[in-house]
Amino acid sequence: MPGTEIERLIQLLAKLPGLGPRSARRAALTMLKRRDAVMLPLAEAIETAAAATKICSVCGNLDTEDPCGLCQDPKRDDRAICVVEDVADLWALERSGAFRGRYHVLGGTLSAFDGVGPQDLSIDRLVARARAPAVEEVILALNATVEGQTTAHFIAEQLADTRVAVTYLAHGVPMGGELDYLDDGTLTAALCARRGAA
Ligand SMILES: [Zn+2]
Repeated sequence: MPGTEIERLIQLLAKLPGLGPRSARRAALTMLKRRDAVMLPLAEAIETAAAATKICSVCGNLDTEDPCGLCQDPKRDDRAICVVEDVADLWALERSGAFRGRYHVLGGTLSAFDGVGPQDLSIDRLVARARAPAVEEVILALNATVEGQTTAHFIAEQLADTRVAVTYLAHGVPMGGELDYLDDGTLTAALCARRGAA
């Protein structure tokens, strides 16, 4: 059995998505064997990223500056705000290159089961942003789960007395499918074929 320090490293690695205890052990072993080439640079990168990371006070994205690079980019289209549950969804949409507007990260979905109410999500901030004169459309790119759709309906109600058009991602997003797991083509198609509020 490895010593306490190594065991702790393995336990922490096993908390990462996609890494069970077995792959955490393999990752730790690779690091230990390649101390100078992998382990020390990785430790430094983790420490630097942890110190530099900020939550964007405008959209909720994670970046090293606040407002984030996307909010600061003058070439982005101010007319559309794409609402996502999580930063992972924002990054997935950004990877697909299909959307050139602004984003808004909710930080989760409404869930009676988990005790998540409107005050726990950045819905008020979204409504305030949607009232800016430049904004014409709010795209609700929420996951096709019950919670995602409940949240989408709630937000649409909150936006009812603004002049923005509320649209949804087209079908093609699988039930219970998280945006992050969709391939870029599917995401692009779902975004391009978005539909208006029913
Ligand atoms: Zn931002």
